[in-house]
Amino acid sequence: MSAYQIVDHTSAVVVVGAGGSGLRAPMGAAEHGLKTACVTKVFPTRSHTVAAQGGIAASLGNMGPDHWTWHMYDTVKGSDWLGDQDAIEYMCREAPAAVIELEHMGLPFSRTAEGKIYQRAFGGMTQDMGQGPPAQRTCAAADRTGHAMLHTLYSQSLRHDADFFVEYFALDLIMENGACRGVVALCLDDGSIHRFRSQAVVIATGGYGRVYFSCTGAHTQTGDGNAMVLRAGLPLQDMEFVQFHPTGVYGVGVLITEGARGEGGYLTNSEGERFMERYAPHAKDLASRDVVSRAEAMEIREGRGVGEHKDHIFLHLDHLDPKILHERLPGITETAKTFAGVDLTREPVPVVPTVHYNMGGIPTNYHGEVVTLKDGNPDSVVPGLFAVGEAACVSVHGANRLGSNSLIDLVVFGRAAGIRLGEVVKKGALPEALPKDAGDLALARLDRFRHAEGGSPTAEIRLDMQRTMQSDCAVFRTDRTLAEGVTKIDKVFKRMADVRVADRSLIWNSDLVETLELDNLLAQAVVTMHCADNRKESRGAHMQEDYPERDDKNWMKHTVAWFDGWGGQWPKGGVKIDYRPVHDFTLTDDIQTIPPKKRVY
Ligand SMILES: Cc1cc2nc3c(=O)[nH]c(=O)nc-3n(C[C@H](O)[C@H](O)[C@H](O)COP(=O)(O)OP(=O)(O)OC[C@H]3O[C@@H](n4cnc5c(N)ncnc54)[C@H](O)[C@@H]3O)c2cc1C
Repeated sequence: MSAYQIVDHTSAVVVVGAGGSGLRAPMGAAEHGLKTACVTKVFPTRSHTVAAQGGIAASLGNMGPDHWTWHMYDTVKGSDWLGDQDAIEYMCREAPAAVIELEHMGLPFSRTAEGKIYQRAFGGMTQDMGQGPPAQRTCAAADRTGHAMLHTLYSQSLRHDADFFVEYFALDLIMENGACRGVVALCLDDGSIHRFRSQAVVIATGGYGRVYFSCTGAHTQTGDGNAMVLRAGLPLQDMEFVQFHPTGVYGVGVLITEGARGEGGYLTNSEGERFMERYAPHAKDLASRDVVSRAEAMEIREGRGVGEHKDHIFLHLDHLDPKILHERLPGITETAKTFAGVDLTREPVPVVPTVHYNMGGIPTNYHGEVVTLKDGNPDSVVPGLFAVGEAACVSVHGANRLGSNSLIDLVVFGRAAGIRLGEVVKKGALPEALPKDAGDLALARLDRFRHAEGGSPTAEIRLDMQRTMQSDCAVFRTDRTLAEGVTKIDKVFKRMADVRVADRSLIWNSDLVETLELDNLLAQAVVTMHCADNRKESRGAHMQEDYPERDDKNWMKHTVAWFDGWGGQWPKGGVKIDYRPVHDFTLTDDIQTIPPKKRVY
């Protein structure tokens, strides 16, 4: 340890991450008088939440009839019955109050003529328990909702007693006897090592979209928190469920919000046909994302893709009043121009299904407490450890997330975690002393990469991983592609033993930091591929063509997977897989569970 300068910190709570979820959680903790430190690898307002476009779901009913139970129905159906109904009930019931709270914090929502929060239609959001027309449920600030939300939350968080450690890269959790005692981080400014000792750690590190080649997410989406959990010997949940968004700009992966279709946009194939009418006669272009992405992939596969290589689809907005584009969709108008050279008022945008969101992550209950499968108890809580946001799997999104349900997940469960922290963390008490070897493992791992002089550059291994995931774990999966994928991804993982780190400085953007991120990504790639290979059915985003139907009898259960590929003993690429039951119960007696049925739109 002595090779590094080590600085120790003490606080009641440490939050890792400062996106929408990471900013909401410390606010709650601070409201309960708990001293909170927030560690983040990028400046808070650069977190990926800033890029969210379309909006945040809540049944305010400003633009037509709505009810939170309709939102709950749509979310359960969207999840293809893999979501936990207690958590979904909690989220949908709390959503309106959470949005009003954001409004009171100063979030500049778009407005209706009467001055109410503007709400647009989004995929899979309907009225009357799926029986009625689309519900306008998604609250929007033009098409820059995440930007407005993150800046609002950041400015509010400065009012509270939270210390920000900006451009600090969390390396690992400090665990002792199965409980979390703190976090070790690297300061990207000067290479010093910081040990944060606390009564509780909240992981809010976002998704891991960057395991794929083409992704709408930021380059920082490397799932570091998920990997820290794996290294702590804890499992991740439902990692095979990866969302492909139907409208990523062809060739560049940048997102065109689903709000574009919510405002009346539609998709066509090479014959000019509005093909969604065939796949989802009722909801058409506003079917849920897995359904639309699969329809696009089918059209392309059957030779009806557009463009020279017939490998993409057109999204039309050219029929809309330019005033609507200007007022409601200014951001994507600019995006289409910059990234596709397209004038939305005259031409369609070329789009393809692009990796967008991870339904899987760190299993938690609806208080944000991390759970694990221990001694046969599928809901046993890991003391001192919380997870929120895209890193967590509560699970409200199950096998497929509905658009605009992530932003609401961030604030509802960020707040819930804050409330729970107020209950379990002792105010004014000192956290347990750190174990003697606190941080040793993290530093040994750092040392390993600082002396990595093998033959495979970091960027080469990363590309190998991204190509493998893109080709073998995509929108359509089969026994053959997954079996090949497992062999290939295990091989890519082994290449890490031979990694060559060119620039080993301990600062931001160095090859060393990218290697730490790659090491994190790879563990998740391996787990994702193995879990996908294991699930012999089709549900939500996991379309397994050799088992095209959903199989509730055998597979209505969450996958939980552990990883010890870093020199461990387990066979099968170091992945151990088990399952835990879906919560098919509600929190309160006044609300019934939504029984499974065939999912059609
Ligand atoms: C282009 C785009 C558009 C979207 N649009 C919508 C939408 O309209 N509606 C909707 O509901 N959802 C949308 N989503 C999804 C939603 O935005 C994300 O799921 C959500 O913002 C994730 O928030 P988060 O708080 O979990 O993490 P993020 O906002 O991703 O933040 C992660 C935080 O963790 C920190 N961090 C990560 N690793 C480390 C580490 N090792 N050490 C220290 N800090 C670390 C980062 O610095 C960052 O602060 C969109 C996503 C994308 C990519």
